Amino acid sequence: MSFSSDLKEDLLHIAPTNPCCLLAQSYGLLLFGRGFSAGEVSLSTENEAVAQAYQYVAGRFCASAPRILRATTRKYKVEVPDRQDRLRVLNAFGYDGTERARRMNWSNIQEDCCVGAFLRGAFLACGTINSPEKNYHLEFVVPHYNLCLDLKKFLENNDFAPKQVRRNGLYVLYFKKTEEIQNLLTIMGASKFVMELIDVIIYKDIRNNVNRRLNFENANLNKTVDAAVRQIESIEKLQKHGLLSSLPDELREIAQLRLLNPDYSLRQIGDAMQPPMSRSGVHHRLGKLCDMADKLT
Ligand SMILES: [Zn+2]
Repeated sequence: MSFSSDLKEDLLHIAPTNPCCLLAQSYGLLLFGRGFSAGEVSLSTENEAVAQAYQYVAGRFCASAPRILRATTRKYKVEVPDRQDRLRVLNAFGYDGTERARRMNWSNIQEDCCVGAFLRGAFLACGTINSPEKNYHLEFVVPHYNLCLDLKKFLENNDFAPKQVRRNGLYVLYFKKTEEIQNLLTIMGASKFVMELIDVIIYKDIRNNVNRRLNFENANLNKTVDAAVRQIESIEKLQKHGLLSSLPDELREIAQLRLLNPDYSLRQIGDAMQPPMSRSGVHHRLGKLCDMADKLT
């Protein structure tokens, strides 16, 4: 099950108590379906439960029940087959079937309490959301340009700022900001999913921090290893030129400790010396050995 269908099944369990909200939710579901005209009142969906909800909601205005067809193995189509029934559905929301373009009839969203219910209906009909594990993305895919603009305006009036894009001949309003997606889910009543989203955000944040720290530590470790390799190469060069034995005791001791212990840190080399030497002392002397080796051809 996808995150989208989980969310939709959760939204389907929310039953608005106010008649105004019930109307707004039904309106959102029907208006953003595939067809909402005298010629076609239908919905195409991958979600069987949404298909059944559409059948029930549209059926309340019809003399004969809308039918659910299995368009493909993954898609359900619900349609109102009878023209008179289609007109009854349209009349219920203030349309008479002669409209040339599909537009929003704002009078079906009467009160502030209805905003979430309407968006819930619209999301059930044409919305999708990505699993937050991947990236944050919620969208409404609207079949008509003017209807898309109406929904955009409606969202903007309610303090949302959707982005708009055209994809495969459809009009898409989408959100990528986590805060906006959280607010949308909240207003639609999907509080369980808001919690889930917040959990994922916190987890991702922790994981990013851990990764950053690991990268930092690896980078430091690599630097240390690179330095040790360079020191050993220099010492071996001095050895090849027969110069190690002529070095002052102190330098010779450091050179030998480095050759025998390639994995030692500067501090560990210093501790192993007789008498022990500071980290910076070891650093300075190993640098001197490298300089000497660099001067040789
Ligand atoms: Zn209401």
